[in-house]
Amino acid sequence: MEYNVPMENLYSYCNLCPRHCGVDRTSGDTGFCKSPSYPVVNLYKLHFGEEPVISGINAARGSGTVFFEGCGTGCVFCQNYDISHRLTGRGTKMDAHMLSDVFLELQSQGAYNINLVTPMHYAPTVADSIASAKLSGLKIPVAINCSGYDSVDTLRLFDGLADIYMPDMKFFSAGIAGRFAGAPDYFQTCCLAIDEMYRQVGSYTLSPDGLLMRGMIVRHLMLPGCLFDTKHILEYLCARYGNNIAISLMSQYTPMPHITSDHNSDPRLRRHLSAEHYNSMCTLLSSLGQTNAFVQELGSSGDSMIPDFKT
Ligand code: SF4
Repeated sequence: MEYNVPMENLYSYCNLCPRHCGVDRTSGDTGFCKSPSYPVVNLYKLHFGEEPVISGINAARGSGTVFFEGCGTGCVFCQNYDISHRLTGRGTKMDAHMLSDVFLELQSQGAYNINLVTPMHYAPTVADSIASAKLSGLKIPVAINCSGYDSVDTLRLFDGLADIYMPDMKFFSAGIAGRFAGAPDYFQTCCLAIDEMYRQVGSYTLSPDGLLMRGMIVRHLMLPGCLFDTKHILEYLCARYGNNIAISLMSQYTPMPHITSDHNSDPRLRRHLSAEHYNSMCTLLSSLGQTNAFVQELGSSGDSMIPDFKT
């Protein structure tokens, strides 16, 4: 499917993500993402919790991060659950001009980049806002930070506007993707999406002072008891892209309160990741020759990694 309609019309029969709800968001209907036809921003700030090539090492600067409410992927274990599975009622409705002003404000505060967290269900407006900000003097790179369960046609709205992609690659097996996100086609969809992102931004390129200017970081949050998925994802990414991208192997999985309090939740999701499993996958990543890689201290899991959202 190619988009050849005005951007604003893309909300009126919404197929912006692989859920293909087909609802008219301009008339107040909502689909899986529960989101209206204008972006709702929960929080924007200089943020220091990303990889060092994104957040930098200067504590006075950081990544200019914009957190959107709602999500078209909807993982049951989401670490941003409070704002991804519902609209809080405390977010700010924005149009493209307001968003553009936010990006310029973050740049003036010293942000190394603009980091858009889960923007895909608002892609037409967000793409407009990036174009507008660049015309108004935005010089720092723009990063799209997304779930990987993304539509190639929607990604094309960002062609020439995005400098960096930071997608997740969450699941390999259809069974786990179905159980944890209701998306058994996740892996195949994500592979096509990441191919498109790579086509747009190309190889991993750092500035002389070690900040990412262009390219991709593909992130994988290891889940307890899902070692098979992690192994296949790392093998796939290394074989297909190698050091033309960076891989971030994340250990910070935290069982959220709605998971631990629900006796019907998957028992794997109620515990933390084991050090043995995480270390074995770090070893695998190294043995696959991946030098553009980020790993975490296992103790980095916990609420400290989760921003203080307005809820
Ligand atoms: S963006 Fe939202 S409404 Fe549109 S297809 Fe995706 S989940 Fe459905």
